[in-house]
Amino acid sequence: MPVGMATGWGSLLQDEQQLEELARQAVDRALAEGVLLRTSQAPSSSHVVSYAPFTLFPSPVPSALLEQAYAVQADFNLLVDAVSQNAVFLEQTLSSTIKRDSFTARLFDIHKQVLKEGIAQTVFLGLNRSDYMFQCNPDGSAALKQIEINTVSASFGGLASRTPAVHRHVLSVLGKTKEAAKILFNNPSKGLAMGIAKAWELYGSANAQVLLIAQEKERNIFDQRAIENELLARNIHVIRRRFEDVSEKGSLDQDRRLFMDGQEIAVVYFRDGYMPGHYSLQNWEARLLLERSCAVKCPDIATQLAGTKKVQQELSRVGVLESFLPGQPEAVARLRATFAGLYSLDLGEEGDQAITKAIAAPSSFVLKPQREGGGNNLYGEEMVQALERLKDSEERASYILMEKIEPEPFRNCLLRPGSPARVIQCISELGIFGVYVREGKTLVMNKHVGHLLRTKAIEHADGGVAAGVAVLDNPYPV
Ligand code: ADP
Ligand code: MG
Repeated sequence: MPVGMATGWGSLLQDEQQLEELARQAVDRALAEGVLLRTSQAPSSSHVVSYAPFTLFPSPVPSALLEQAYAVQADFNLLVDAVSQNAVFLEQTLSSTIKRDSFTARLFDIHKQVLKEGIAQTVFLGLNRSDYMFQCNPDGSAALKQIEINTVSASFGGLASRTPAVHRHVLSVLGKTKEAAKILFNNPSKGLAMGIAKAWELYGSANAQVLLIAQEKERNIFDQRAIENELLARNIHVIRRRFEDVSEKGSLDQDRRLFMDGQEIAVVYFRDGYMPGHYSLQNWEARLLLERSCAVKCPDIATQLAGTKKVQQELSRVGVLESFLPGQPEAVARLRATFAGLYSLDLGEEGDQAITKAIAAPSSFVLKPQREGGGNNLYGEEMVQALERLKDSEERASYILMEKIEPEPFRNCLLRPGSPARVIQCISELGIFGVYVREGKTLVMNKHVGHLLRTKAIEHADGGVAAGVAVLDNPYPV
């Protein structure tokens, strides 16, 4: 049975009056639960807030794929951690890219600089989110395919902890008690906070605090507060500061301990610094200061580089997973099963062939630069034009090419502040949150801590919730 047919929301989505009443109830519950964003008009203030966009109904996700995504998360944690410790691999992999991509080059410079000086940090913390779509096979079944792994600033764990109550509410209003009970428990904010708490504890200074590097204009602050609140409940204090504050008031002592406003910092948690636009010259200097310190950075610069799309593409080459996970053929098989086709565009025959294939079948590929945050990829005709332009230039090595995943669309109703409820054809992207903590060479925590489902209209090729395209959702296991 195609997954889209399996939920039974079909007739409910046709009754417009009922949808409007349900939408009112759902929105009020979302506000009451704290599924909130600041508005785009006042992104630095909490005086006026609204609900984060979400689907009226949970969306169908095959249970087997959900289980598969959870089962492979600890492997992805291990892999990212191993890549981050392999300076030779990072250098080789990124060498062609950094010739033409100044942002990645800048990150890489900091990486080289701290390596040269010697890494002061001894405890490492990874909070990541591996994202997937459900490729629709010719026989109608679905396969789990990774879109990317986010190793820096992976967001929406906080709000995703609060959306299950909203969907349970909607289904309960309809008297669908059995269905409401199928909405999975989800609490990534607690799990992410436990990771930070573990790293804080291992840092081993009772009065040290957590420094959250925040943006001035942060619409998604309630997502971050959910984690801060969990930490405060464990008596761990979080201070929010911008890169600018770090450059003005941050300092290192002779042991490279980090101080902010005279206060020792155990863990630096980045919710900023993953896009070129986040950095002025002053901010780059602040980032370097933080990297040089012995505070636990989440992520450290090497782990941020391990999350680049170029690294993702190189990891898909024959033999590379095996070299990172020797003696673990089962983990390698679990990881590889989630890989879509990934192609290097480095100058040479292999890259030429990839370009020829993509130009011949534009709807089957996505062209990706080394960027995060949505809205940077190129599709269809735009991709073809870019490939024609890049074909004979070194610049093409700063991109990768990826097979385009085609999930089976289903209908759902998207709710956004200021827009009428709209029933449309949608597709979803599932994210699994992973947490690991390493002390020296010993991994002391490695687990998955929850999920995020985001759903968008099929006509949007790219973009997440923050980019205004996708909305929050919950998996309805089928
Ligand atoms: P970013 O770092 O900007 O989030 P992603 O690789 O996650 O970059 O791509 C952004 C969005 O583009 C994804 O959320 C997804 O909707 C879409 N996308 C990315 N890669 C693919 C793909 N291979 N097939 C289909 N859609 C994709
Ligand atoms: Mg993404």
